[in-house]
Amino acid sequence: MYKETEYRPHRLVVLGGGESGVGAAILGKEKGMDVFLSDYGTIAPKYAAMLDAEGIAYEQGTHTMDRILSADEVVKSPGIAPTLPVMQAIREKNIPVISEIEFAGRYTDAKMVCITGSNGKTTTTLLTYHILKNAGINVGLAGNVGQSLALQVARDHHDVYVIELSSFQLENMYEFKANIAIILNITPDHLDRYDYKMENYVAAKFRILNNLTPSDAFIFWQDDPVIAKQLKQIATEARLFPFALHNEQGTRGYVDDEDEIVFAADPDTSLRMPRADLSLNGLHNLYNSLAAGLSACLLDIKKDDIRKALSDFEGVEHRLEPVATIDGVRWINDSKATNVNSCWYALESMPDSKSTVLILGGKDKGNDYNEIAELVDKKVKAIVCMGLHNEKLLDFFGDRVPEIRSTASMADAVAACKELASEGDTVLLSPCCASFDLFKSYEHRGEMFKDAVRALK
Ligand code: ADP
Repeated sequence: MYKETEYRPHRLVVLGGGESGVGAAILGKEKGMDVFLSDYGTIAPKYAAMLDAEGIAYEQGTHTMDRILSADEVVKSPGIAPTLPVMQAIREKNIPVISEIEFAGRYTDAKMVCITGSNGKTTTTLLTYHILKNAGINVGLAGNVGQSLALQVARDHHDVYVIELSSFQLENMYEFKANIAIILNITPDHLDRYDYKMENYVAAKFRILNNLTPSDAFIFWQDDPVIAKQLKQIATEARLFPFALHNEQGTRGYVDDEDEIVFAADPDTSLRMPRADLSLNGLHNLYNSLAAGLSACLLDIKKDDIRKALSDFEGVEHRLEPVATIDGVRWINDSKATNVNSCWYALESMPDSKSTVLILGGKDKGNDYNEIAELVDKKVKAIVCMGLHNEKLLDFFGDRVPEIRSTASMADAVAACKELASEGDTVLLSPCCASFDLFKSYEHRGEMFKDAVRALK
């Protein structure tokens, strides 16, 4: 036992040895803490090497409970479910548990642009980062994309961070404060993690508004019924910057009658640009561009810099990514569409004729396909199911489309699409499902798709 008077460094236990955990451990070490990292799985060699280089104690393949339970504070990686036995034991001992973002936020006074939502987070985060970077701001990219915030706070000292926050990351955030908080949209996703209660998921997303003051800003989609309902139930002191397709009441980002985008962060000097100049297509990307542009305006980025960056952003891999045009058929990789809502937006951006061949399937997270039924009726000439369990898709869409095929591999799916698509058509991989039945990840699925398509040339 330590005596009250004896100096003892803060004991930090980090659970999870991935990007965020290793970043937190390094920052803790830099701040003079006694750090121990524990990962029940295996730690990737890259991260083990970083821990070794810093002389940080760690274990993998096990949790040594007495060492973990001697912590003053625990930093938990977002992937670790709160229901695991290790977390229960930590709770029983009343040891505070925080996220890596919460931890890192204590050691920087940089401006924080924080982005959440069910869909569009990565695109909007990268687009916002692109605008700021090209305007010469000393900006860091963190959260779900890029390096962990903690590692950058320890080593890079940026003036502004653009941070993508999933609802998992928002759990275990308490004192952290954004300067600009963005909620793009809220539709059911990951409900398995929230006791299948939508209100718990919505509450997790709204944690992004914690601690905002009147000098901070909240940017959100004005037409989202879930956001609108929740906003009525909570109190925020932040200034509100809603965006929408058209100008409604108090809308700060919209498209006007001349098809010009208007950013009215400051109504006296609003920024305008033709919608056609946006580099990203589709209604969903209009929303993402409105959110990113508004945050850049709020950070006083020059208008010309904002216009230029919104028009030369190259897009993000696996999100409506054009792969190739072969014999007049366009092939598009939207492997990141792992839920029905994002597929809705992908279909929405397809031509208005029955000329899309759609690849659907994978691990179904309790999907309700009614959401896309109307767009499928209007735009889809054939569906190719690609998964180990295609029955639900065959049942639902069997009578809705002129042609439906069942396949169980990428090679077969692409071969079927080649047969079904003719000149002027688009083949769209936008599967509505997670990829884990046939692939390691959505990235893996997207890469396999691109390889198979390019092999057709
Ligand atoms: P996230 O990081 O939230 O998963 P991404 O930017 O990676 O979002 O996009 C994921 C998928 O969602 C893509 O397939 C894309 O077509 C679709 N999408 C992107 N932005 C939006 C949006 N604002 N609303 C709905 N769907 C979107």
